Amino acid sequence: MNSLAQPTVPTAAHSGSEVVLQVRELTVQYATSRGPVSAVNHVSFDLRKGEILGLVGESGSGKTTLAMTLVGLLRPPGRIVGGEILLNGRNLAKLSPHEYKSVRLSQIALMPQGAMNSLNPVIPIREQILDGLRDHGIQLTPAEADRHIASLLERVGLRAEVAKLHAHELSGGMKQRVALAIAISMQPQVIIADEPTSALDVVVQKLVIETLRDVQEELGAAIILVGHDMGLMAQTVDRLGVMYAGRLVEIAPMRDALISPQHPYTRLLIEALPSVTEKKKLRGIPGLAPQLLNLPKGCAFHPRCPLAFEPCSTITPEIRPAGPDRAAACHLLEVTP
Ligand code: SF4
Repeated sequence: MNSLAQPTVPTAAHSGSEVVLQVRELTVQYATSRGPVSAVNHVSFDLRKGEILGLVGESGSGKTTLAMTLVGLLRPPGRIVGGEILLNGRNLAKLSPHEYKSVRLSQIALMPQGAMNSLNPVIPIREQILDGLRDHGIQLTPAEADRHIASLLERVGLRAEVAKLHAHELSGGMKQRVALAIAISMQPQVIIADEPTSALDVVVQKLVIETLRDVQEELGAAIILVGHDMGLMAQTVDRLGVMYAGRLVEIAPMRDALISPQHPYTRLLIEALPSVTEKKKLRGIPGLAPQLLNLPKGCAFHPRCPLAFEPCSTITPEIRPAGPDRAAACHLLEVTP
């Protein structure tokens, strides 16, 4: 690949915070009749203990593929073709689906998108929580199970009686809380929340996010919140990662990203946010997200980028440091001080 700079992996070295998950040069491809496409392309980042890292991007940016890969739920024709996912010194990218089962839920858990589809409609909530524990060889007496389930449900703001109900008897917000209760049932260090509030109204969305934050603070878990709602990210996450066409194009503390986005795509996402203090014309991002099978040469964002210049249509920018504790992939970083 052509580039003006050597790839530089953003790390947590600046903050000194303990890193729980390291993703290094992770590349995931899907086999298609027209050849392999990279849905996740050389993505690297660290996740720190107790933080919420947002991963934002349009549909097709690779964020959901990345989330599924991290929890070992990538299905063929998708496959990891390079890179590492390091959790407690173990490279999860090398695990077989069977080996991944022992890690999922106990160390890294998923709060899935659309809990209605992830919860079994014919099994009471209690059994669904216990199933996950049994898969890890944990057998509880009925009294222990009652206590554990009541405490889990209480943690996510639900009454203990919810354990007896089926998914169809719960509201959308309650289902998401149950999904969170299942995700934390073994106190994992890392929770991947994949668009946990999509299809919920704004009030319920806020409650689910507050619950997620409370649980994260209580357990000290690290969370990756995957989504496309920049407003929700701005209110929720500690750091923000921005994905475009399978690549991580910017990563920064949320506040810094809001005040001084370094990548033009991040800037446009932020400018598209409505303001409560200022009347402004809402602006969308011009053009369409590129098709992964047919990516533009050079920077994949160049056909939509208002700041594109000479090298952008031919040379792919690598991610590089863009200030303290932040990195971005844009040729502008090479020409502006
Ligand atoms: Fe825009 Fe060029 Fe930066 Fe890509 S590399 S975001 S096209 S300025």
